[in-house]
Amino acid sequence: MSRQYALLLVAMMCWWLLCAPAVRCSSLARSSRAAEQKHNAAGRESSEAAGRKADSICITVLYDNNPYDGRLKTAWGFSCLIEGLGKTILFDTGADSGMLLSNMSRLGISPKSVDVVLISHIHYDHFGGLEGFLNQNNAVTVYLPKSFPERMKDVVRGAGAELVEVAKPLKVCDCAYSTGELGRGLKEQSLVIRTSKGLIVVTGCAHPGVVNVVQKAKELCKDNVYLVLGGFHLCGLGPSEIGRVLRGVKSEGVTLAAPCHCSGDLARREFEKAYGKDFIPLGAGFRLEVSRIKKGICVYAGTGAKRARDVEAALDRLAIPYEELDEHAVRNAGLKACSVLVMPGGHTNKMVDALGSDCLERIRKFVLAGGGYVGICAGAYMAAERVEVPGRPAGLAIIAVTNHRKAGRGIKNITITQPNHPLSTGCQKNVRIWYENGPTIEPEGNVETVALYEDGGAAVVSSTYGRGTVVIFSPHPEGSIEAGVTPENLGTLDLFRNAIAFASRDQR
Ligand SMILES: [Zn+2]
Ligand SMILES: [Zn+2]
Repeated sequence: MSRQYALLLVAMMCWWLLCAPAVRCSSLARSSRAAEQKHNAAGRESSEAAGRKADSICITVLYDNNPYDGRLKTAWGFSCLIEGLGKTILFDTGADSGMLLSNMSRLGISPKSVDVVLISHIHYDHFGGLEGFLNQNNAVTVYLPKSFPERMKDVVRGAGAELVEVAKPLKVCDCAYSTGELGRGLKEQSLVIRTSKGLIVVTGCAHPGVVNVVQKAKELCKDNVYLVLGGFHLCGLGPSEIGRVLRGVKSEGVTLAAPCHCSGDLARREFEKAYGKDFIPLGAGFRLEVSRIKKGICVYAGTGAKRARDVEAALDRLAIPYEELDEHAVRNAGLKACSVLVMPGGHTNKMVDALGSDCLERIRKFVLAGGGYVGICAGAYMAAERVEVPGRPAGLAIIAVTNHRKAGRGIKNITITQPNHPLSTGCQKNVRIWYENGPTIEPEGNVETVALYEDGGAAVVSSTYGRGTVVIFSPHPEGSIEAGVTPENLGTLDLFRNAIAFASRDQR
C-alpha cells in the first residue's frame, strides 16, 4: 500500500470519527472492512475474524506499581494488554522492557501476539519499555502522540515498525479508538473501547484530567462509560481534591472504577469507599474480562447454599454481574435467564431437598441444552449421579464421577496437571486453596482432571454434558469470607473466573 493511500485512509477514518461519531460500532467495522480488504491484498489478517471477536475483551495489567499477582515484578509505570478485539493492543510499555517482557512471560503472553502498541504520553514510565519490546516484535503498528520528539519516532521507524502519529481522534481497530492528543501542556492520548456494556476508557496518567478524558470519550463515541482504568494522576493530592475528581467521575455516570499506577493509595481507598463492589483493585497481573460473559451468571442462593455469598463476593471482585436464584425461582421461572449456573458450597442435603427432583431435572435439561454448570464443594457432590451424602443418593448425574466424602477444613495444596487447559490460564502450577469438606473426586469416562490434591485425588475436573459444560471443584476457588481467606491473595480467583468463562461456552 502506498504512503499516500495510507494517509488518505487515516484521513477518511478521522472523517468517520469526527463527522459521524454517532454511528454504531458495526457500521464502523463495515467501513474498515472495505479498507481492510486492501490490507488483505498485502497479506493482512481478515476483518471477518476481527468482527467475531469484538464482543469479548480481556484486559491484563502487565506493569504497575501496585502488586496483584505475586509472581510479577512491580515498579513505577504502567502497561496493559487488551485482547479480544480484532487486534491485540499493548497500551504503554512501562519504564523497563526487561520487566515488561518478564511479566509477560510469567503470564504466558508472547510479545509476538501484539499487533498494536499505543503510547499514551511522553513520560518514561510509559514508553521506556518500547524499544526493548520492538526488539522482540517489530511487526506492529505504533500509535504515538504527534507531539512526540522526532528521535522517538525514529526509534519506531528504525526498529522497522509502522508508525502512526496521533493528533486527532482516530480508529485503532474495530471498536477501539484513540481520543487523540488531549491536554494543554503535556499531550496525552487515551484509548476508548466500545463494548456492549458501554465504553471502556484506558488512561496512562490522565494528565489532562480523568474527568475530561471521560467526557471526551462520551462525546466521541456517544455512549456511557462502563469502566475507567489506569492512572488517574491523583498521587500526592489531598482528600478535598481527590473528592472533587471522584465526584466528577461519578457524575459522568462511570459504572466501574479501576484506578492504579499514579492514582495513589489515598485515591484508591476513596474510590473503593465510593464505588464499593464496583471498585476494581487493579495491580500487576490483574486480568479483567468484560463482556466475554455476556449475560446470565446465576448463583443458587436458596435453602442450604451457605457459601453463596462467597461466590457473589468473588464475582463482585471480577466485575461479573450475576443474578441470585433460590429453589422457588428455579421451580417457577426455570433457568431461562442463565448462561451459567453456579452451585455454591453449603449443606448438600438441604440443597438437594429444597430443589427436589423437579428442579434437579430442570438443571439437567439446562446443561443438556448448552448451559454451564460450576459446582463448588456441595455443588460438586450434587453434580454426580450419587451425591454420597448419607441418605441422599440421587444427584444431577451431569458428570461421570464418584465423589468420595471427605471432611476437614483449611488451606490445601493442589497441583495443576493441565497447564494449557482454559481452566488453568494464568494459574501457577502449585496452588494453595481453601478447603472445607469437599469430596475426593474419582473421574471416569470423558472427564478431564485439571488439578489434583497432594494425595493424588482429583480436586478440579470438567466434562461436557449434552451441549453444556460442567466444571466441579472440591475446594473453594472463591475463598471464604468467614475464614478470612481472600481468593486474590492465594491466586485462586483466576481459577474461579476461568471456570465461569469456560462453562459459559455452548458446545455445539
Ligand atoms: Zn506515569
Ligand atoms: Zn505521566
